[in-house]
Amino acid sequence: MLHRHPSRQGGVPTAPGRCPTGLPSDMADTTAPFAAAVASPEEGFGPIRPGVGTTAPPLRRQVYDTVRSHGVLSRLDVAKHLGVSPATVTSAVSELLATGLLVEVDGGARTPGRGRPPVALAVDPGIGYVAGIKLSNPVSTAVLTDFAGQPLASVTLPAARTVRSLEGLLDEAAELLAQLMARAGQSADSLLSIGLGLPGTVDYTAGEVLWSPILSTGSVALRRLASDRLGIQVEIDNDANLVTLAELWFGAGRKLPDFAVVTIEHGVGMGLVIDHQLYRGANRRGLELGHTTVQLDGALCRCGQRGCLEAYVSDYALAREAATVLGQTAPDIASHLGMLELLHDRARDGDAAARAVFARAGRYLALALANVISLYDPSTIIVSGARLQFDFLYADNVLSEIGRQKIYAGRVPRLDVNAWGDLVWARGAATLALDVATDRLTGAA
Ligand SMILES: [Zn+2]
Repeated sequence: MLHRHPSRQGGVPTAPGRCPTGLPSDMADTTAPFAAAVASPEEGFGPIRPGVGTTAPPLRRQVYDTVRSHGVLSRLDVAKHLGVSPATVTSAVSELLATGLLVEVDGGARTPGRGRPPVALAVDPGIGYVAGIKLSNPVSTAVLTDFAGQPLASVTLPAARTVRSLEGLLDEAAELLAQLMARAGQSADSLLSIGLGLPGTVDYTAGEVLWSPILSTGSVALRRLASDRLGIQVEIDNDANLVTLAELWFGAGRKLPDFAVVTIEHGVGMGLVIDHQLYRGANRRGLELGHTTVQLDGALCRCGQRGCLEAYVSDYALAREAATVLGQTAPDIASHLGMLELLHDRARDGDAAARAVFARAGRYLALALANVISLYDPSTIIVSGARLQFDFLYADNVLSEIGRQKIYAGRVPRLDVNAWGDLVWARGAATLALDVATDRLTGAA
């Protein structure tokens, strides 16, 4: 629905001889286009922001995050990093030591004649564990990490079906978790939180899946249903957001304030980090680069629309093209991947038709990345995901096409191609769980 501001419909009442801004009426012509947008003095002027400190996490969480991100750090260095006095940090550190979240460790070599050896701070990795689960095709994965983010065990299982019922999806998550905990030799009681990722549109705040290509049901309150089924608090998110969290917490994005992640596997996803934080959008539903239209009335996408980017560069789109080139059909996703490998081999051997498939998809990818640059101006775009082995798609000549647009004047962001393997999605999900559990333990939520 289109909302109109009341003052733009009816205009602002004015005194005779004065324009709405209070200027003499002979100046009204030049100010008239702006007059309707000017608020009355009682309404104030300027952006209405929350008060200072209301949006920042509590100091305990900031201290904890500072120590965790540095590994080992002295109290003095924590204070310097946060720009607060050592006395301010001391009380927060005492609380974190008392709860067991932080521990004191050897701070390095003792200076002769300087009394006690230096003491530094580190997180206690064993205060609890978190699990990350990624439900996908043709495999689903799960990872267990400690509270310092180190992976302890992982499980990969073939997905039973391309599209699952809600019950089937919950069964799959439960099976992955059971095998994960058995492999780690831990009981589920040691888990503080679980992160669950899947492709599709996920409302993070509401904990609902609005649409997913792997789920037969429409809108589903998956966070609550998965929490009930697994017996532990579950957080859910779109899988591209989780890969972005992975890049932000332990990947190339750790030191980058602003960057974009584009994921390509069975679908095409995107995550955006602004000022070191994942941006989920005003409605917390994430960014859908894969479903931006790149061709009017184009190829049919899984979402039901035509001409989506995903319908030209994702696995299933390439497999569709491969079927034509190879004269074969691909009944399921596992065979999609086999066909793509075959197509890749043909292209590498110089087959013109096979090369043309990758070249066309590469041009659509370049178009999408150029759009990301035009819209968001990120410092870096990380092309990330599990199946980036089709190097023709990411060939230098494809990516270098992006920098040729005149409007960028040669200032294109850095492009990193990052083939992590399947487990990165689940590690991203574990990172979400770690973030939420840390909020709870440090009193930030
Ligand atoms: Zn689509």
